[in-house]
Amino acid sequence: ADVIAVTGSASGIGAAVASSLRAIGHEVIGVDLRDAEVCADLSAVDGRKAAVSGVLERSGELDGLVVCAGVGPHVPDPMMIVEVNYRGAIAVLDGLFPALRGAAVAVSSSASTMTKWAENPISRGEEAAALAEAGQYAGHLAYSWSKNALTVAVRQRVSQWGAAGVRLNTVAPGAVDTPLLQAGLGSRFGDAIRNYRAPISRHGRPDEIASLIRYLLGPDAGYIHGAQFLIDGGSDALLRPTEF
Ligand code: NAD
Repeated sequence: ADVIAVTGSASGIGAAVASSLRAIGHEVIGVDLRDAEVCADLSAVDGRKAAVSGVLERSGELDGLVVCAGVGPHVPDPMMIVEVNYRGAIAVLDGLFPALRGAAVAVSSSASTMTKWAENPISRGEEAAALAEAGQYAGHLAYSWSKNALTVAVRQRVSQWGAAGVRLNTVAPGAVDTPLLQAGLGSRFGDAIRNYRAPISRHGRPDEIASLIRYLLGPDAGYIHGAQFLIDGGSDALLRPTEF
């Protein structure tokens, strides 16, 4: 059996990944705020260190890693979105990289494509000032910037990770029916989420994202490295048919 660490394992997509890996006999080390093998807060430097050391205490080597923990645009403090979705994710990827011998997948978002890196304040370390001026859109901007920065950071690691024989990819879901999406529907961004209609006219299911992640972790994906996979019911093609 493989040993695979999964952040965000207590809910939604991460929980679907963890349970589906366990169902095929793998050992999962879940990392989350609660209900996990390793309980740690990825929004803070100390919590990130605790997450990495907690995983390594349970297994010195990992066959796989899924970085899924994240918060949605609706949370009250937009800097929290950047800290968890971007800095927390990267700290876990980099912290566990030396122990990895298989593959890793980071859960980004279709929102990663809605910002260009050159226009992303995170690229200049200026996101706090930019968010202070963003008003009611701060949560959405922070979410898009955090996921854009995560995807860029993954792509920037292809040489180092490839040389070590460890594959690293992102999945970029559209709207997936999880507690995070439900919380967004109940927030002031509810109408914007409801109006986002994919050509496949329903929300994705966590198990549909989990099956792509399992494929990317496994031996059949041996030449896939540094790629981002949209899994969005066709929304990206609908919105930007000529850009890819
Ligand atoms: P979810 O809320 O069901 O699960 C997220 C998990 O992350 C929770 O268990 C939560 O406790 C954990 N988490 C949050 N903050 C944390 C912290 N500081 N430290 C440790 N763990 C923390 O949400 P989900 O929809 O399953 O989201 C999983 C990932 O998928 C996120 O990165 C999210 O941005 C991404 N995503 C979701 C959607 C969607 O529509 N649901 C779309 C695109 C991307």
